[in-house]
Amino acid sequence: MLSVFCSPSRYTQGQDATARLGEEMATLGLEGPALVVAGRSPARMLSQVWKASFGDAGFTHEVHPFGGECTLAEIARIKDRATACKAGVIVGSGGGKVLDAARAAAADLRLPVVCCPTVASSDAPCSALSVIYSEAGVVELFRIYRRNPDLVLVDTRVIAQGPPRLLVAGMGDALATWFEAKTCADGRVRNMRGGLSTQTALTLAEACYRTLLEDGADALEAVKAKVVTPALERLVEANTLLSGIGFESSGLAAAHAIHNGLTTARGTRDFLHGEKVAFGLLCQLVMEGQARSVVERVLGFATAVGLPVTLAEIGLAGVTQAELGLIAQRATAREETIHNEPFEVTAVMVSDAIRAADAIGRAWKSRL
Ligand SMILES: [Zn+2]
Repeated sequence: MLSVFCSPSRYTQGQDATARLGEEMATLGLEGPALVVAGRSPARMLSQVWKASFGDAGFTHEVHPFGGECTLAEIARIKDRATACKAGVIVGSGGGKVLDAARAAAADLRLPVVCCPTVASSDAPCSALSVIYSEAGVVELFRIYRRNPDLVLVDTRVIAQGPPRLLVAGMGDALATWFEAKTCADGRVRNMRGGLSTQTALTLAEACYRTLLEDGADALEAVKAKVVTPALERLVEANTLLSGIGFESSGLAAAHAIHNGLTTARGTRDFLHGEKVAFGLLCQLVMEGQARSVVERVLGFATAVGLPVTLAEIGLAGVTQAELGLIAQRATAREETIHNEPFEVTAVMVSDAIRAADAIGRAWKSRL
């Protein structure tokens, strides 16, 4: 089998990077008009900067307000608007769901796509896949595209203004990257692009984990103070670029599959992707029988930055065995990445691992 590595064509990050958006797009040879799919607060915060930046670079642009959920209906609305304004490029500005929807619409219309994450809450921005949700907020399907984004542009001043909880959720998503990547590489299973992992992807995934441990807590303090520091710059890069490449070019395993299972339980609806992934990672480590020292390092980091390590912390206090069974069933569905683990995984193993992870997390917290 061949090894395959993929990444966005260009990644630009820094304070006030939005002011350079038009210039960066022009450098890549992208042509307007640009349809900007934007969440409400990015539209409020950035519309003047877009006007200046696109204007200077010779792009006309329109803004499409995002409907709130990345559903098939929302993707269709974006496509209609893009067709109506004869868009030459689609720019997503917002959280993971905005970018997923922008990417899906661009892929259907065969247009280039630019992702401008305004929070570092997940590793989706750099990827060539979207998670499509049902109107009720349950993961419905994954769509994989032929190409990664043409440009990912991250304005760290914007990220620093965001809620600290979103940055922490991004750390939860990134926390799983190295462990899932290593499981996939060790098992020589196919990555998201149908090839084997590369040393490059694995090295980036490990750098992702190291950066979290070194810079995570300081970066969180920076966002609480709404300022940009070198630690925040490094952490944002870890959450977005290192984790994005790490997962896509190495692969996912149990942590993300258990996340997908958890989304079926109503109690977890108010919790973010990365928060559920962090708990899913703890379950993965338990299921893989990882050394106590490995589990403790993850627990120590998670509790230091406020990531959930118990069922109660993801809205599942008092979960019944029947509910757990449904979660485990979803997590072990045939197409799930949990089957990248190097042993056969059953639903019972998953529900047992969830109970065990919860007990370990509770014991850890009671000692703090
Ligand atoms: Zn993820």
